Amino acid sequence: MRLDVLTIFPGYLEPLRQALVGKAIEQGRLAVHVHDLRAWAPGVHQSVDGPPCGGGPGMVMKPEVWGPALDDVLAGAGPAAASAPLTSAAPHAGQLRRDEKAGAPPESSYAGAAGAAGDDRPLLVVPTPAGRPFTQELARRWSLEERICFACGRYEGIDQRVLDDAAARWRVEEVSIGDYVLIGGEVAVLVIAEAVTRLVPGVLGNRLSHEQDSFSEGLLEGPCYTRPRTWRGREAPAVLFSGDHARVDRWRRDQALLRTAARRPELLAGLDLDARDRAVLEQGESPEG
Ligand code: SAM
Repeated sequence: MRLDVLTIFPGYLEPLRQALVGKAIEQGRLAVHVHDLRAWAPGVHQSVDGPPCGGGPGMVMKPEVWGPALDDVLAGAGPAAASAPLTSAAPHAGQLRRDEKAGAPPESSYAGAAGAAGDDRPLLVVPTPAGRPFTQELARRWSLEERICFACGRYEGIDQRVLDDAAARWRVEEVSIGDYVLIGGEVAVLVIAEAVTRLVPGVLGNRLSHEQDSFSEGLLEGPCYTRPRTWRGREAPAVLFSGDHARVDRWRRDQALLRTAARRPELLAGLDLDARDRAVLEQGESPEG
């Protein structure tokens, strides 16, 4: 997978060089190119913003800067051609587990199932609080893309004509990472890029760990425990030491149902619950303990 990020603060994307995403870069599963938008801003001041049409507070990002920048990133031309990919922050190769080493694909094997229904335009993701919610389901779908470009807005956002114009060449998705307002799109890109790339095959050592995550089956994940069995007088649930995997699975399902009912009851509405699920919710506890 290849990610391109357009921003006026390239340094904001440095965290992508760390940990599992950095390791994916090192393994050639992921390439991240960060482009300084000001490279496309003409004049001595390299201004990227102007006052809003119609008046009002704040500034709006200029179409004459964003348009050529997106064109060049798509074509790999102009300043975009000169951008070196991010490198991993620390060598992880020595820390790879044996199965990961065997499974690491060469760079040419970027897996792609891009685009809905044969639409092979690359994906342009534009974070905005006014976008549709970014969800785990979108992360799952986007993890199959060959290429994603992110456009980081600042100030009041990007002139809408940039996105309308880009839609001829890109699949444009305006998404929000939550009902609050950040200063700029960079943090949102970090969130989205991490959520997406951890689902790229091979990035997580154990595939099961994301298949059981919150939202994967429509529920929040229940509580988790490690050893010691007793800590500060608090016991980890006995069922987890029973050695009975079917019981443990049922207990985990019950905990996921109970936690979801307590914290995000609206998620239960869309689920196909069986009689046992409903009984657990009615009783408010798991029969497994
Ligand atoms: N005027 C915009 C509005 O009210 O919808 C807010 C602009 S915000 C100050 C500047 C930039 O931060 C946005 O263009 C976007 O890139 C980013 N941003 C802020 N909140 C966000 C959110 N919840 N999700 C995704 N991006 C966000």
